[in-house]
Amino acid sequence: MIDLRSDTVTRPSAAMRAAMAEAPVGDDQFGEDPSVNALEARIAALLGKEAALFVASGTMGNQVALNVLARPGDDVLLADEAHIVWHETGAAAANSGVQFRTIGDGGIFDGDAVRAAVHPRGHLVFPPTTLVVVENTHNRAGGIVVPQETVDGILAAAAELDLATFLDGARLFNVAAATGLPLDRLAAGFDIVSVALSKGLGCPSGSVLAGSAALMEKARRVRRRFGGAMRQVGILAAAGTYALEHNMDRIADDHANAKAIAARIGNIQGIRLAPVDTNIVIFHLTGGAMAADIVAKARERGILIMAFGAKTVRLTTHLDVSAEECATAGTVLAEILQA
Ligand SMILES: *Cc1c(COP(=O)(O)O)cnc(C)c1O
Repeated sequence: MIDLRSDTVTRPSAAMRAAMAEAPVGDDQFGEDPSVNALEARIAALLGKEAALFVASGTMGNQVALNVLARPGDDVLLADEAHIVWHETGAAAANSGVQFRTIGDGGIFDGDAVRAAVHPRGHLVFPPTTLVVVENTHNRAGGIVVPQETVDGILAAAAELDLATFLDGARLFNVAAATGLPLDRLAAGFDIVSVALSKGLGCPSGSVLAGSAALMEKARRVRRRFGGAMRQVGILAAAGTYALEHNMDRIADDHANAKAIAARIGNIQGIRLAPVDTNIVIFHLTGGAMAADIVAKARERGILIMAFGAKTVRLTTHLDVSAEECATAGTVLAEILQA
């Protein structure tokens, strides 16, 4: 099977497992796990932040950040189809009591959209807008990169309006690979940034939050409150450090493979392809075909892909699929879509 359902399906390599087996560990809740401490310091430095915090998953990172940056009843601005709104089982409402407003279009909004949407604090009826979230790359919009000048505009508006800012950078390494911009440039200006180790970098688990020392101290308590504080978790952190050293430079290969698949299916009648900036290919079925049908037909021919909606299909490239396998998948999919 060629598995393109998600970049989370990768399995840790023998070398990554060896690094995990050899990792020095201690009780991370006492701050005594050297492998966790090393990974947190490294990610903080990469993102240009004072401190960092290892968390079990991207969802936990997002939920901890929302809890730290907003209060119950607050109004949070996000892009349409944000992961936080669609893929976290209503967690932000359940955990933190915030309400969402999605703004912009196709996963992108700008500073003026923030200015137009913001509700003032202390108003008699409006929920106060206190936080703006940027998702980069934007998953459901097709792994698209939010242009850096747009990000800068959002941050300028947030500063003007005294809004906190969070970057859901589960795939920020893909943004760096696609744009050539350094990670600290992409993270600059955000109060808290999250990056995932379990997607393009191929780790079995883990995300890392980064921000000021004061915010990470709060985040550490919230992580505990949410049941996410772990003990000898350096075994997982060591996979992260291994991945930063060995799996970062090849992310551009995933992008080339995604573009190759898109090139094979892009001109087929009855589909509308989202822009392919990174390692995600999303297409919408504009004719009679249903996503579940396409997914089932692909499975019969050895290709695993995902229905992202009734008429939306997603494919994701990653370090466990080769250029040849992606070419095969593109050809097979083209045949299915043409039939
Ligand atoms: C995958 C993803 C997450 C959540 O990560 P998990 O580790 O699956 O919980 C958060 N944000 C975005 C944009 C994602 O794509």
